[in-house]
Amino acid sequence: MRLGNISIRDFRNYETLSLAFSPEVNLIVGDNAQGKTNLIEAIGYLGSGKSFRAQKTSELVRLGAEFAEISGSVFSQERQQTLRWVLFPGGRPRQLYGNGVKKKTAGEISGILQTVLFCPEDLMVLKTGASPRRRLADHALCQLRPNYEAALSEYNRILEQKSRILKDRFENPALLEILPEYNTRLCQVGALLISYRARFFEGLGKAASVYHSQFSGGKEDFSLQYHTVSTVKDPFAPIPVLAEALQNHLESHYRAEIESMQCLTGPHKDDFDVSLSGLSVKTFGSQGQVRTAAISLKLAQRELMQRESGEMPVLLLDDVLSELDPGRQDFILNQITGGQVFITCCEPGRFTKLGKTIEISNGKTV
Ligand code: ATP
Ligand code: MG
Repeated sequence: MRLGNISIRDFRNYETLSLAFSPEVNLIVGDNAQGKTNLIEAIGYLGSGKSFRAQKTSELVRLGAEFAEISGSVFSQERQQTLRWVLFPGGRPRQLYGNGVKKKTAGEISGILQTVLFCPEDLMVLKTGASPRRRLADHALCQLRPNYEAALSEYNRILEQKSRILKDRFENPALLEILPEYNTRLCQVGALLISYRARFFEGLGKAASVYHSQFSGGKEDFSLQYHTVSTVKDPFAPIPVLAEALQNHLESHYRAEIESMQCLTGPHKDDFDVSLSGLSVKTFGSQGQVRTAAISLKLAQRELMQRESGEMPVLLLDDVLSELDPGRQDFILNQITGGQVFITCCEPGRFTKLGKTIEISNGKTV
């Protein structure tokens, strides 16, 4: 898939911007705070309806503007297609159009423009707390499996309601009577998430181990472990078995959840870890190992998406290349041929040989 052009209006620090892209490498250069990452964010949002850094849609609309718009034309699934988002700063729901037709959910455009984002924080993802790792997995899975996205939003919705019940139980003790209903539903949807994740992590781990082995000259043995609720003995088990295991775990934490007023157990606490030759990267990894393993994971994610859809997703490298030593830069640059890539960089003159250069200054092209 290739993003041919993009038009942006009142998105972040952009008033209006129209750009045509190279089907290969696009280098976005400019000083700090000019809008390079905002452009990367707009490209990611166009395809997925998700921002990798905004908490709320309203942040994406240029301060003071009535609405923001991102549209673009993509060559994918053997034809030219268009996507268009309109975002509002208040509570008004956003609008999505795919090939001119209004859509209800981002799931309906899934597969048209898939992106894999790689930024400097991702390099440390195996060392940080669990939530960036969950976000990484969720972001990939939402693009790979529209049904996963639906299940995840459903899960988060029930979780939020349950959270409210636990918090409001003093004022309204009758709420506790409906808690079991919510728990049952959480376990049913949670089981689905675990089932998707087990398969995703299995594929991701296998693909990443191939990259890592090339990278380390076959010296290190890469393996990925998926961790979920402890009563789930086999995450590949049938959904009803998983749901029952979740229910058991919830029941044994019933008191603790009531007392702490928090949702303590469930796949919203899931995590994964990578080991190199048997040693956890999180605990024992060197700086270089942590980075190399993260690069392998990203390349693996891109490969899984390509295998699934038959098309190479668009790679977004935000500031990541300049963070890396020449050996790791070369490794990435050699692996990414064959697809469209967007690379941001502050230093003028660097990487310019790679492809088309787009210079950004204060939300405008130079
Ligand atoms: P760096 O090289 O430091 O990463 P960058 O070019 O990637 O810089 P961006 O992250 O794209 O910079 O952000 C540029 C500017 O966008 C920031 O100065 C920020 O204040 C501005 N900005 C972000 N959101 C909005 C918004 N909703 N309205 C107006 N301006 C915004
Ligand atoms: Mg930036």
